[in-house]
Amino acid sequence: MEKEKQNAGIIYGEQNFSFPNHMNYGKFLLERLSKEKAKVALINGASGEKLTFGEMTQQIVNIASAIKQLGIGKGDVVAICSENRTEYLTTTIAVLCTGATVTFINSAYSKSEFIHTTKISKPNYIFLSPSAYKEFYVTLKQLNIVQKFFLFGISDDKDVTSFKDLVTKYTHFNDFESKDFNGTDSTSIILYSSGTTGLPKGVKLTHRNLLVTGFQKSFCQKDLVVLTLAPWCNTVGIILTLLNISKNRTVLYLNKFQEDVYLQCIEKYKAGILLMVPPLLVILTKSKLIDKYDVSSVQIMYCGGAPLDSSVMTSIKKRFTGLKHVLQGYGMTETTGALTEEREDSNKLGSVGKVVEGNIVKVVDVETRKTLGPNQNGEICVKGPVLFEDYIGKDINEDLDEDGFYKTGDIAYYDNEGYFYIVDRIKELIKYKAGQVAPSELEAILLQHDAVQDVGVAGAPDPLVGELPTAFVVKKPNSKVTEKELIDFVAARVSSWKQLRGGVRFVNEIPKTGSGKILRRILRDSLTKPPASK
Ligand code: AMP
Repeated sequence: MEKEKQNAGIIYGEQNFSFPNHMNYGKFLLERLSKEKAKVALINGASGEKLTFGEMTQQIVNIASAIKQLGIGKGDVVAICSENRTEYLTTTIAVLCTGATVTFINSAYSKSEFIHTTKISKPNYIFLSPSAYKEFYVTLKQLNIVQKFFLFGISDDKDVTSFKDLVTKYTHFNDFESKDFNGTDSTSIILYSSGTTGLPKGVKLTHRNLLVTGFQKSFCQKDLVVLTLAPWCNTVGIILTLLNISKNRTVLYLNKFQEDVYLQCIEKYKAGILLMVPPLLVILTKSKLIDKYDVSSVQIMYCGGAPLDSSVMTSIKKRFTGLKHVLQGYGMTETTGALTEEREDSNKLGSVGKVVEGNIVKVVDVETRKTLGPNQNGEICVKGPVLFEDYIGKDINEDLDEDGFYKTGDIAYYDNEGYFYIVDRIKELIKYKAGQVAPSELEAILLQHDAVQDVGVAGAPDPLVGELPTAFVVKKPNSKVTEKELIDFVAARVSSWKQLRGGVRFVNEIPKTGSGKILRRILRDSLTKPPASK
């Protein structure tokens, strides 16, 4: 059975695999980047701005030295709130080198989401893009959590330090020493996830978690230009970008999806690997513009973050003549990205591949918690070096079984060759365009409306975007509230991907367990007839 053993239903990723346990992930990246100085590391696809690995290394060293002199180091939390831009990545790596923790706050958040997130990670420093500064600076000042502000670019506010002042302060590579420590117990980054239940929480990943990903075999062995679109504030975005940078691949990035710009970028820079989420693949299968561009350079599409229909994989191959593989990865924020993945030399249609190096997975019966053998559906549970350190806002132990396996809330089976297939999700999470929507968050907002007596939120399946957040509402007696009023009420308080695109269904009661827990399965099952995509 190739390299993985199957002992009593436990699936082992390659165990004969080592990595430097005590290394700072930032230092690891600096070492890798400095190997290929002349090669282009980053390209901003919209502006054409380029940075070589040599320039990137120098910028990181300059920023790290400058912020270290300002007192930033182990114990500090540094936030970045910005759209994707070159400084975002250099700052991330520089902060890691100092030993401080870095966290990413989505610049597309509404004010209340921004406040909720900032209160979770409590950053004492923050880097803002000019648009994030405009949107959130006043709120940040009122919150009184952040001590010092930095602006990407040049600041004319005396209380805000210009990024330019940090990056232009020259420090020689050999004069900079990264902070080293035991990677197992040092938080490198904080991401946000609602986990299996409740509101978004902070997910603490260690330097070790990230180092592991750098030493696992890549899904592709070739040196190709990588095109990515995912925001770097989320797992698919940041983990996959850092991973590809660490392999010294040129990363071409965009901020938002515009079909013509995306296709132009593929043609102009001869992109060979596309990092994708399922809705993007779906759009490209239907693209009317694609025939105007030469996209024959694309050899690999790597897709993750949400389920991908096998029929989409078959149709996409007809549109990209050079395409050799559509490879799927499955994982989550809590597993530092991919837990299983397909690779060039190991893939099967419809599967999410095999368990990645170093990890141990089992599939258990949801009722009896008995470990299941091949071809039986059950909950995926995981143990190993990709598993996160802990939540901020919840004790990780609540999600571990008695053998220390983390319960993912995803239902899957594996075949006789160890390939995994995701079949369902039993946790509360809704995924709209692969972005997280926590039903509890929308329920809490709707309950603030005067006309709402009770509410339950679930995802309606949609072939284009995955799931559409849909509310089941019990009105207060005599209330005349309309669906539109409630949709608008939510829209005014959340970011775009969390809006009630599945609509509102007025009901007489919300199905609940004896202890008052919402029976979301019943709500979800009643949504099997999807409304049209909005
Ligand atoms: P996130 O933490 O936002 O990356 O979300 C993780 C969740 O997305 C997983 O627990 C799954 O429910 C879902 N997911 C991620 N990748 C896949 C995939 N390839 N197929 C099906 N579901 C996926």
